[in-house]
Amino acid sequence: MIRLTIPDIDDEDLLGVREVLLGGMLVQGPQVKSFEDDVAEYVGAGHAVAVSNCTTALHLSLMALGVRSGDTVAVSAYSWPATANVVELVGATPRFVDIDPKTYNLDPAALERVLSEPIAAIIAVHAFGNPADMSQILRQASSVNVPVIEDAACSLGSTLEGRHTGTWGTIGCFSFHPRKAVTTGEGGVIVTDDGTIADACRALRNHGQDPNAEKADFVVAGFNSRMTDMQGALGRSQMKKIERHVHERRERAALYDALLQDSEIQVPVAMEVARHNYQSYVILLPQHAAPRRSEVISGLRDRGIETTIGTYNIAATSFFATKYGYSRSELPVTDEVAARALTLPLHEQLLPQEQERVVGSLFEILA
Ligand SMILES: *Cc1c(COP(=O)(O)O)cnc(C)c1O
Repeated sequence: MIRLTIPDIDDEDLLGVREVLLGGMLVQGPQVKSFEDDVAEYVGAGHAVAVSNCTTALHLSLMALGVRSGDTVAVSAYSWPATANVVELVGATPRFVDIDPKTYNLDPAALERVLSEPIAAIIAVHAFGNPADMSQILRQASSVNVPVIEDAACSLGSTLEGRHTGTWGTIGCFSFHPRKAVTTGEGGVIVTDDGTIADACRALRNHGQDPNAEKADFVVAGFNSRMTDMQGALGRSQMKKIERHVHERRERAALYDALLQDSEIQVPVAMEVARHNYQSYVILLPQHAAPRRSEVISGLRDRGIETTIGTYNIAATSFFATKYGYSRSELPVTDEVAARALTLPLHEQLLPQEQERVVGSLFEILA
């Protein structure tokens, strides 16, 4: 089977985790602290706060910004539902924004229309690791004085103009789930240059305990969203591989681009100034093949190739469609991309001849 993805776990990862287990300090210890320092240094952020996963990272970020019941948050419509669920979890309402058909990221014109209403925050997603146009989004956000949270769940290692995704907005959130570039099993990290926001997140992840008070003091009704020190150790050894991973994924993406050129398949498009980490390599099937996408996926599976859809039009999922209503004309581009997207296998062990087989089989099934 040509797998969609394979997490890269090596002996150094195992040794790091083993040491923590034998050492006995299992939760939120020195390894988590060092992992936070590693992430902050790698992306160039003032503060990094490790939490149990990226969904929690997004949730705590909204709380730290004071987003609450009655507020509206602009959200990129094409994403994993977590991006919008966290808005509901703080009692606010998501306002879904349509995407660009080439990058699958927030469409600035659609964002502009939403910003004519009162908005408490913007959540911009770097879909599949492809950097969104942060210069443009920040210009629009600052003209109405609205903070931007980057859902950088997939985009660790992706940059724009040499600057890391996650460090453009007020807050950036990374995921370390096994489907992402590097992994701690479950895991998330919040990055920000704002020390007050970082401290608010540190309190919220740890039962509301003031991170700076000498004597234990509880200043907010917080969660337990801490990371274990085993995960911290795993994160530290995983971070050493991130640049190699991005390099190897970009090489394989370039080969897919070449194999698919001159076909009726649309390859993923990154901005000129972007370095896309290709957390996922997501193509668009030709329009006429969209209704047959599940047959394409099962046909590829029969040929020993694992593929999947892209991600979701969140507004059209049952929960949001039932709560707010949804008609297909609201987010036409998101609808079309959600119907046509297909994720091809991409990982560091994938061989060129396997990529040729993936593309050859895809052409065969589409013909
Ligand atoms: C994976 C993902 C998340 C959630 O991350 P977890 O660490 O699994 O909670 C959120 N947003 C996007 C865009 C994702 O791809």
